[in-house]
Amino acid sequence: MMSAPRLEIDLRKIYHNARTLVERLAMRGISVTGVTKATLGSAEIAATLLEAGVKRLGDSRIENIEAMRLAQIVAAMTLIRSPMLSQAKRVVLSTDVSCNTEIEVIKKLSLEAQKAGRNHGVILMVELGDLREGIMPDDLLDCVRKTLSLPNIDFKGIGTNLACRSGVSPDNKNMARLSALASSIEATLDLSVEIVSGGNSANLEWALSGAEIGRVNDLRLGEAILLGCETLHRQPIDGLHTDAITLCAEVIEAKTKPSKPSGTIAQTAFGEAPEVTDRGMVTQAILALGQQDIDPSGLQAPTGIDVMGASSDHLILESDSLKLSVGAEVIFQLNYSALVRAMTSPFVSKVMKPATTVPSDF
Ligand SMILES: *Cc1c(COP(=O)(O)O)cnc(C)c1O
Repeated sequence: MMSAPRLEIDLRKIYHNARTLVERLAMRGISVTGVTKATLGSAEIAATLLEAGVKRLGDSRIENIEAMRLAQIVAAMTLIRSPMLSQAKRVVLSTDVSCNTEIEVIKKLSLEAQKAGRNHGVILMVELGDLREGIMPDDLLDCVRKTLSLPNIDFKGIGTNLACRSGVSPDNKNMARLSALASSIEATLDLSVEIVSGGNSANLEWALSGAEIGRVNDLRLGEAILLGCETLHRQPIDGLHTDAITLCAEVIEAKTKPSKPSGTIAQTAFGEAPEVTDRGMVTQAILALGQQDIDPSGLQAPTGIDVMGASSDHLILESDSLKLSVGAEVIFQLNYSALVRAMTSPFVSKVMKPATTVPSDF
């Protein structure tokens, strides 16, 4: 028996998704940075992305990048979150490039790069409306100038990130703005801007729409590769697998119970109690899985099964026709937040298909 809960990760499907996006974007002159942050720096997944043709790997956490380096993953690696001052040394030692928005941080990277006898590449992130990270466009040129003056720092290009904090969609207008900024840096400072990183999975709709791509030559893709969907409307992408990663959990209780709780209702383990209507007796099952392992609202159960709620360690299901018995396994598809939590939970084992190693309980 394989242990539960577990993520089943189909590397062939991930390869197919990555390869398909790499090919479609190549026709638009755009390369792919494969983003590994949702996989906790999995070496197997990283290797699969590289085989599929991503040009470099990107992760938001230095710990994940260090783990991939330790696992002998050979690739250009970009830290896609602005480095912490306190981690500047580790960033210089383990990554080739980092995305930055603060000159103070770049100065620290420069110092650490000098000490280490290395060069470090810098992409400057620009704020284009989503109001997460980014230098205000009017301040960009000044920041490029300062970056260019720092020893052991190579200015690599510019980038932007949309649709994460405020859901601002990448479109012709904000992407043209990014291109114009790249061109104006080149014209003013007489240099070439090598990387113009247009955004994340939310950029695919724009990038593949036949729009004028301008200077954009890189996208940083995570979710679209792993889950096969675009991220503006969370629709499946044509030709991609949406079940490359599934979650399997085990039933620990199966009973017929009233649908309506009895007694005085106060708060639940995670806050307010939900409104419940009396639907008579229902077929309820409990899985050994909880808030510690997944985001319950991000689970897609098989047809005929509904996720009713979760506390730390119990996931409550109702099924009308389907009989779930103790010991049975239920397989879910996951959204990004459920995936990230499951990947991060030490209680959820990760099973790669095809197996790269023999499972310990085989
Ligand atoms: C997470 C992240 C990405 C990848 O986003 P997906 O939606 O998974 O494609 C790209 N860029 C930055 C800066 C990120 O933080």
